[in-house]
Amino acid sequence: MISRKEIRELAAFQADAKRECALSFYFQPQTPRDKSHREEMILAKDLVKNAMREIKHNGKDTGVAEDLHRMLEVAQDLRGNQTRAKVIFACGKRNFWREFDLPPQLPGSAITSGHRFHLKPLLTMLDTRPKTRVVLLDRRKARLFDLQGDEILEREGLFRSLPRRGRSDGWHGYDAGHAERGVEDEVMRHFRDVAAHLKEEWEKGKWEKWIAGCLETNWHDFESRLHPEIKQLCMGQFSARANMSAEQVRESASEVFRSNHESHSHELVKRVLSYAKSHKRGVTGLRRVLRSLELGEVRVLLVTENYTARGVECTSCGRLDAHLVRYCALCGHSTRKLEDIVDAIIPLLVHRDIELVCVRGQELEQVGNIAAMLRYRASNNDHRLADAS
Ligand SMILES: [Zn+2]
Repeated sequence: MISRKEIRELAAFQADAKRECALSFYFQPQTPRDKSHREEMILAKDLVKNAMREIKHNGKDTGVAEDLHRMLEVAQDLRGNQTRAKVIFACGKRNFWREFDLPPQLPGSAITSGHRFHLKPLLTMLDTRPKTRVVLLDRRKARLFDLQGDEILEREGLFRSLPRRGRSDGWHGYDAGHAERGVEDEVMRHFRDVAAHLKEEWEKGKWEKWIAGCLETNWHDFESRLHPEIKQLCMGQFSARANMSAEQVRESASEVFRSNHESHSHELVKRVLSYAKSHKRGVTGLRRVLRSLELGEVRVLLVTENYTARGVECTSCGRLDAHLVRYCALCGHSTRKLEDIVDAIIPLLVHRDIELVCVRGQELEQVGNIAAMLRYRASNNDHRLADAS
């Protein structure tokens, strides 16, 4: 996984716009069913060719050919059996090359060039994946897994041996009911132990969120034994038996992640839109979002998956503007054009620990594809003015 420190390094990187070029390569493997490795390679080669053409078209001799060839080599070496996506950030002239594996859930493969790295897909992916514990549970067993990124690792198992019913069932079944209750008590004790173990782990910081895999009937009994705080941290439950393979566990847990993320971002969008309407802690549209960023108000930034927008950036103070003005409105220095202003916004988010959420759906598209949840509103009047302008 990519560390916070590495993200900061990538976010802080800026190539000299005239002589250097920062390349970002995202490579999403196809599932073998869909496409052969050969087709995948054709796709990778096309990406490289197009990127080369575009960079030449922009009239920049920034020495990217070597980087692009090396990227193609990496893609070739993946040999079609990869279960991971690949991302590379490079700037040959600065001897900069960083390569990472990611869960294979990128929106697609792409190469982008500019004076900053394209970090949006990387960042949105990291935010959806906290350190997660998966608990696979039945009436006498619990198997615990670590799910980090897209990797699953079985950690430990908790067992409880149930009292056996056998010859000692009692004379004429007299004790059978008693033995039945004994078994039930043991099961409940087992659930209670697992719940206590989970709480203990959480207190030690072993995980941030957790997911349960068990049969519906067991879930009901188990859930009632969870500490309220632990219950809140549960991202969801999937139906499973305790003998499920690790790969199946990974798939089912990823599904919980996906639906959880979708409902979470949907809720967030709804809340931001209603806040924005009532001039509370929400703003929509690029201009207002930029202004709130400038004022230090933003807590969470929401963008649609494919959103890009042109803008300018002051060459002196770095102020971003959605209007394509030649001179900075703040300090009067000249500006430079940005093909995608989001690439310039992201370093600000990383620097200030602002959460980035990538969302799908029309709600956000209708208000300009970008919105922000605010910590506070520095000045309501200012915003009204900005809204009116
Ligand atoms: Zn300026």
